[in-house]
Amino acid sequence: MANDQELGGLWCHEILQGLSDYLAGDLPKTQAAQVDLHLTQCPHCTQFGADFSKLLKQVQSLSKPPSLSPEGQAALWQVLTHGD
Ligand SMILES: [Zn+2]
Repeated sequence: MANDQELGGLWCHEILQGLSDYLAGDLPKTQAAQVDLHLTQCPHCTQFGADFSKLLKQVQSLSKPPSLSPEGQAALWQVLTHGD
């Protein structure tokens, strides 16, 4: 990843790997604090995190979780392939 950089003791790719756990509140406090620190200093991860967070809320708010709408699938695919 071209924008990979180390901030707050974590690399961007580590942020992206742990982002779903972070948003779900599954990370230990020390790790979550490191992610917070990185996100406050890294524009790239802040933007990605905001998009990912928005999408996650959309997915979670769907009334029928087993079948994603075509729009939802397209949005998910876009996030999964973002920055590749
Ligand atoms: Zn970053």
